[in-house]
Amino acid sequence: MRKMELYVHIPFCVQKCSYCDFLSMTAESTVKQAYIRKLREEIRLRSQNFSDREVISVFLGGGTPSILYGQQIVDIMNTVRECFHVSPEAEVTIECNPGTLTAEKLEYYKRAGINRLSIGLQSAQDKELQLLGRIHTYEDFLASYDCARKNGFNNINVDLMSALPGQTLKSWEQTLKRVIMLRPEHISAYSLIIEEGTPFHKLYGYDDETRKKGEKPLFLPSEEEERQMYQFTKAFLEQKGYKRYEISNYAKPGRECIHNIGYWTRVDYLGIGLGAASLIDNWRFSNVSNMTEYLKTDFEDVEYQELTKNQQMEEFMFLGLRMQQGINRGAFLEAFGTPVESVFGEALERMKQQGLVAENGGQICLTDLGFDVSNYVFSELLL
Ligand code: SF4
Repeated sequence: MRKMELYVHIPFCVQKCSYCDFLSMTAESTVKQAYIRKLREEIRLRSQNFSDREVISVFLGGGTPSILYGQQIVDIMNTVRECFHVSPEAEVTIECNPGTLTAEKLEYYKRAGINRLSIGLQSAQDKELQLLGRIHTYEDFLASYDCARKNGFNNINVDLMSALPGQTLKSWEQTLKRVIMLRPEHISAYSLIIEEGTPFHKLYGYDDETRKKGEKPLFLPSEEEERQMYQFTKAFLEQKGYKRYEISNYAKPGRECIHNIGYWTRVDYLGIGLGAASLIDNWRFSNVSNMTEYLKTDFEDVEYQELTKNQQMEEFMFLGLRMQQGINRGAFLEAFGTPVESVFGEALERMKQQGLVAENGGQICLTDLGFDVSNYVFSELLL
């Protein structure tokens, strides 16, 4: 059976964080109920086209999926399992935020077959959490984490965020050290991006521009400080037994996220829910991102866009090179019927000479320097 992944979007949050530009919102419980009804309708409808596929991972993302009642998550997962061939070994993840997770909900998650938790901590410093507009303290996170372990969850990711306004290398180090003591299986460590339309953009947009010009910002860490944080993260986590397997993702051996790896290696994925995007057989399509429209949609009015061969090859490179293992020559040849040199030869050669790209036994990957300037590398690979 051909493989696919499933993403289910739960767009609700207790409140909007100051930096967030994800498709998420606060909502009354009636809206949440109506949304879940629609979500299950969509699952039933879309699954009809995938009877020949095996689902290797399900990711309940958000928003804050753990804001829902435990039974609502069970209902969603029951519908998924009734409609799709979910592999018995499938990785099933739910994103949770401290302050919304309880022992009772964790019981329901087990009943729903959820075997991985991704907990949004972001920082182990209460001052930073407050600045970010998070609803929880570090203590709240510890309580959630402890509860998850006591309930038998043995595959946990912790989301962290560096390059925060006012953050120093020292406070970032302390966050990492605190988290490491808990021994999660996986850590995602992203740099804050100042997104337009967020309260942070009003506060720090100018500062961000200053930083991009290579000048010293007032509140945000400078580019150099950001690089130091990134390099410290890699060195520190590797020393503690976490391997960087993607630009911002670290895992204990064998605990890499199957869902994310599928995305970076271009396994087909189906997105269910508000604004969710899909990639199936090189066709892209997305759901509407307006709640009122989503609740009314019959899912007929979807715009499909077929990726050109060039777009597919670019994606293969951009996504594959995000991973430590890089891309495989043989896989490129098999996917596109042409050797990688014939398309990207010049750019790859140039970047090898600059020390950004290396090759090892048919695998082409970024060097540490290449990871530091990955945006530049990807721009060089645009066709
Ligand atoms: S919890 Fe996550 S999705 Fe919700 S507002 Fe905060 S950053 Fe956005």
